[in-house]
Amino acid sequence: MIPFNRPGWIGNEAELIAEAFANEYIAGDGPFGKKVQALLEKQLAVKKALLTTSCTHALEMAAILLNLQPGDEVIVPSYGFVTTALAFFMQGAKPVFADIRPDTLNIDETKLAPLINKRTRAIVLIHYAGVGCEMDTILEIAKRHGIVVIEDNAHGLYGKYKGKYLGTFGALATQSFHETKNITCGEGGALLINEPSYIERAEIIREKGTNRSQFFRGEVDKYTWIDKGSSYVMSDILAAFLYAQMTQKDDIQSKRRKIWEHYYKHLKDWAIKNNVHLPTIPAYCESAYHAFYLLMPSFDVRTHFIKYLKENGISAVFHYLPLHQSEMGRKLGGEQYHCPVTEDISDRLVRLPFFNEMSQTELIAVTEAIQNYRFSDK
Ligand SMILES: *Cc1c(COP(=O)(O)O)cnc(C)c1O
Repeated sequence: MIPFNRPGWIGNEAELIAEAFANEYIAGDGPFGKKVQALLEKQLAVKKALLTTSCTHALEMAAILLNLQPGDEVIVPSYGFVTTALAFFMQGAKPVFADIRPDTLNIDETKLAPLINKRTRAIVLIHYAGVGCEMDTILEIAKRHGIVVIEDNAHGLYGKYKGKYLGTFGALATQSFHETKNITCGEGGALLINEPSYIERAEIIREKGTNRSQFFRGEVDKYTWIDKGSSYVMSDILAAFLYAQMTQKDDIQSKRRKIWEHYYKHLKDWAIKNNVHLPTIPAYCESAYHAFYLLMPSFDVRTHFIKYLKENGISAVFHYLPLHQSEMGRKLGGEQYHCPVTEDISDRLVRLPFFNEMSQTELIAVTEAIQNYRFSDK
C-alpha cells in the first residue's frame, strides 16, 4: 500500500532527542526550543516565533490576543480546517464564512467586502496547499477597515508571495508541525508575531497567564498570574526532533518540489484530456509544496476514482468539508452564507500521496495507476 502520508526520519532526530535528555532539560523553552525559535525568526525574518503544542493552540493564542468581545466577528474561509474557525469561536467570536477562489482555492478576496461590518475584528486565511492568498488586496481591505489579518500558515511554511515568505504578512501567523505537514515533530506548532505590540502578551498567554518568561529572563523578580492563558509551550524533546527537521528544510522542500513536479509533468496531458484540473500557482507565488491535488469532473467520478486507487494499493484522500454546512456551522447560521465554490471544490478534490521520503518507484506507481484509470467505467 502506498499511504497518503508516511512520517519520515530526515536527519539526526534520534541523536538530538538523546541530546535533549543529556541536557537534563526536557520541559519547554529549553536549549532546542530556543534554537528552533531563533532559526524560524532568522529564516523568515519575523519579529518573534513562539513554539506551541499545536497550530490549533497557536490559533487560540491569536484569538486571545484579539481581546474578542461578545458579538465580534471573524472571517474564515469555509473551505478550511475546523480549528481555523474553532479557535476564534472558543474565544467568543462569531465565525463568518467566506467562499474561495476557484483557481488557488484560497479565500476569495473579491467576496470579502459584503462580509465586513463594524463587528468584524479579523480575517483568518489559509494559504491552501502552500500557495499564497492575494495578500496585497487582503491587506489593503484589512487596513481600510482596521481589521487584523491572521495567516493560518499550516500549509505555507517557506512558500512565498511576491518574493516574501508566507507567515510574514499578517499581524500574526500560525504554523503546524503535525505529522502530516512538510516539517514535523509529530504534534506541534508555532505562533509567528509580525506586529511587535503583541509579543509581551503572547508570552504571558503561552505561559499559563503568568509572566514566567520575563522572570526567567531576569526582568522581574517573581512571577505571578497576569492574564488569560493556558499551557501552550512545546517540550524540548519535540523541539529537538523539530530542530533536526528544520535544519534539513532545503532538502525537505526540494524533495517535495520534485514530487509535485513529477505529478504535474506526468498528469498534465492526462488531465486536459479527461476534464480534470491540476493545481494553479500564480506566477508571483512560490509554493511551499504542501500537497498535490486533482479536481475531478464530478463527485461521483471522484468517489469511483478514490475506490479505484485503493484497489490498486494507493491511498488518495479528499479534503475539507464546507465549514458553513457542518453541524456546528449550521448552528452558527451557516445556511445564510453563499459559498458555491467551496461546496463544489469540496465534492471534487482529491489529494494524492505526498510525503518527504516518497520513492521514485512509488511516485511512478501512482502516476501510472492514474493514467490507467478508465473514466468510462464510471
Ligand atoms: C493541520 C492544520 C491545522 C491544525 O494543526 P495542528 O497542529 O494539528 O493543530 C490548522 N490549520 C490548517 C490549515 C491545517 O492544515
